[in-house]
Amino acid sequence: MVYTIKDDCIVCESCHPVCPEGAIKPNSDSDGYWIDPTLCNGCPDVEVPRCVTVCSVESLAPLQPKKGRCKSSLLRSEERRVGKEGRSRWWTDH
Ligand code: SF4
Ligand code: SF4
Repeated sequence: MVYTIKDDCIVCESCHPVCPEGAIKPNSDSDGYWIDPTLCNGCPDVEVPRCVTVCSVESLAPLQPKKGRCKSSLLRSEERRVGKEGRSRWWTDH
């Protein structure tokens, strides 16, 4: 499971050195850190991820996947096609 840093991070810098994957990166344009989702592996070898253990303000949380993006874009493209070709043709073609 991939983790992310929430807005209430107080930039105590405790989590950055404990990540074995080097996934916790300093922000380039502001104070604080972000977690590279391509590097974070959720620390599968320990019960509680190392960054979660050292954070005193509980600012680390599992990254939630975005919901419904593929579904809605597919629906919109189908709606455009139906609009162009006409509903009766769309139904007879499928
Ligand atoms: S969960 Fe583990 S691998 Fe992921 S950012 Fe935290 S310490 Fe690094
Ligand atoms: S340990 Fe928590 S408060 Fe400190 S820098 Fe990391 S996420 Fe922010």
